[in-house]
Amino acid sequence: MPGNAPRPLEGQVALVTGGSSGIGAGVAVALAAAGAAVGVNYASSPEGAAAVVDEIERTGGAAVALQTDVSREEQVEALFRGLLNRFGRLDILVANAGIQKDAAFADMTLDQWRTVLDINLTGQFLCAREAVRIFDRQGRDPGRSAATGKIICMSSVHEVIPWAGHVNYAASKGGIMLMMKSLAQEVASRGIRVNGIAPGAIQTDINRAAWETPEALQRLLALIPYGRIGLPEDVARAAVWLASDASDYVTGTTLFVDGGMTLYPGFRENG
Ligand code: NAP
Repeated sequence: MPGNAPRPLEGQVALVTGGSSGIGAGVAVALAAAGAAVGVNYASSPEGAAAVVDEIERTGGAAVALQTDVSREEQVEALFRGLLNRFGRLDILVANAGIQKDAAFADMTLDQWRTVLDINLTGQFLCAREAVRIFDRQGRDPGRSAATGKIICMSSVHEVIPWAGHVNYAASKGGIMLMMKSLAQEVASRGIRVNGIAPGAIQTDINRAAWETPEALQRLLALIPYGRIGLPEDVARAAVWLASDASDYVTGTTLFVDGGMTLYPGFRENG
């Protein structure tokens, strides 16, 4: 590892779903730099996952790529078995995999609705359930971490901001918010912390159309008081904090990483 960077996750094992691209890739690299061995889950991009594993190994970390569709129960069970086979334990789950399938409401097909809910919401349920089962089995190990285990649910500012034309996506993120809080309430006494991250506009493939041209970027920036688009590293730093003992008294909360997008900038000169 380069330099004397702090390694608050030394000796811990993390799994990042959707780790082959964008925010998940940034989170996987940051968790590894903080000392964790990382399972890099992917669905359709083995080359993306391999690049993330390479980057982690080049800097002295440990990582493994694991293919799974997080919406499929039996595949998710195999994913966690694969991680345990490789690294022997689990301390941190970042349930990050997510997609958009946008349509005007009247034109939205049942398939578009179901696919987004299945991957974004049910996928997080299936992964969090496996993680809780493993954490309960392992028990607390104070030498490693104050908590028995940590779950981070990748939500979105659209857990609170309604989003016309993206009703399936916003419904999935609103669902993640209350799943996260209800689960946090249920497992806190067992030492398991569950939190969410709500990114604003982060420059990745999922929203390429919103930043690819100067005109689109200009329109987007009007929604961001801080005046710049976010980067995966902005979210990754928040994930490392939520995974570490530095946030040990934090559970059941959403950390907004959005440059102020949820501050209703439309009201700035128009209230
Ligand atoms: P991205 O670059 O498109 O990455 C999406 C990731 O999800 C990829 O690694 C993809 O894997 C994986 N994935 C898709 N379907 C999957 C499935 N069925 N099973 C397992 N993995 C699957 O998008 P991103 O922006 O990084 O998004 C990551 C998360 O952040 C999502 O939950 C998204 O809703 C959330 N988010 C993003 C933004 C933003 O502005 N970018 C804002 C708020 C929230 P493959 O490529 O291998 O298929």
